[in-house]
Amino acid sequence: MSNQENVNPQMIVLGRESRGLTQKDMSELLPITQGTLSKIESGLLQVSDQDIKIISKVLGYPEHFFRQTDPIYGPGTSELYHRKRQDIPIKILKKIHATMHLRHMQVGRLLKSLDIGSIDIRKIDIDEPGAPSPVEVARMIRATLHVPSGPILNVVSLIENAGGIIIPCDIETNKIDALSRWIPGFPPIFFINLNMPMDRIRFTLCHELGHIVMHQIPNSEMEKQADEFAAEFLMPANEIRNSLDNLTLEKLSALKQHWKVSMASIIYRAKSLNKITENQARYLYAQMARLGYKTKEPAWLEPPKETPKLFYDLAEIHMQELGYTEEELSELLLVNQSEFRDAFKNHGRRLKIVR
Ligand SMILES: [Zn+2]
Repeated sequence: MSNQENVNPQMIVLGRESRGLTQKDMSELLPITQGTLSKIESGLLQVSDQDIKIISKVLGYPEHFFRQTDPIYGPGTSELYHRKRQDIPIKILKKIHATMHLRHMQVGRLLKSLDIGSIDIRKIDIDEPGAPSPVEVARMIRATLHVPSGPILNVVSLIENAGGIIIPCDIETNKIDALSRWIPGFPPIFFINLNMPMDRIRFTLCHELGHIVMHQIPNSEMEKQADEFAAEFLMPANEIRNSLDNLTLEKLSALKQHWKVSMASIIYRAKSLNKITENQARYLYAQMARLGYKTKEPAWLEPPKETPKLFYDLAEIHMQELGYTEEELSELLLVNQSEFRDAFKNHGRRLKIVR
């Protein structure tokens, strides 16, 4: 990569924020003042080759990272919602969003040579007069994706088979479980924290799918609507209703195993379908709390693990079929090799052929 190419100041901002640094933090690591850094980031000052070498070292990105001019894609609606949350430190929020922007850019680079096939997820307008409710939308999407009646066996592969890309992310706050975006010309992308119980991962992905399908423009009801979508998508009212009579903890654990959702969400479902009263729900929650299930539902009831594959395949196919070395792929993805290995290689158990 030639040093003659100009530095893109936006990439300095993106690189800095993705490392969770403020301008002040970063200037303390550099032989320049915050004022100078601020002018560099706003494009008022040119960066010397010497400066970009140091910035590259401090932020741990290769030098050509700062010279690239791919578009930085704007936020999705679920990010816009989280942006308004006052209780998440701004530094953490900026780090999460910068990482999403970067991942998006990287996926864009990988998709230049790959075709992941048709996107079967569709948008449905819920704002027009007479538009379907979130529950109806969930039914329509189940039908569109040919989901058979009964529980969804694997939410991750359902979304991936429909053309969605699920990207595992370390999200350093438990106030955000996932984010999603669907930008024209791209597949829908789901960023998810996988360090959660499987039932919560499944519900969260369906909640984000609800956003992807219904929310082109954020609205004040969107979180409630996405939850309604997820509940109907995972536990269709017509199918689960009759099994919600006389709920006990024992019954809840059997239902959890069948529907692969949390016991807490089944209680919530029973209440919203008017199968139990507010008091009965409170009593069941209290029983769960007494057994410690409120913080962690029993591990033996946990649904089987679902692991994203498509995202890792994007890099894997570049290596296996397009002949990229790890070094070349890291360069394409604007990261150092160790970061490439951490983020783009699946560290799960791999099956090997017995020879
Ligand atoms: Zn949401």
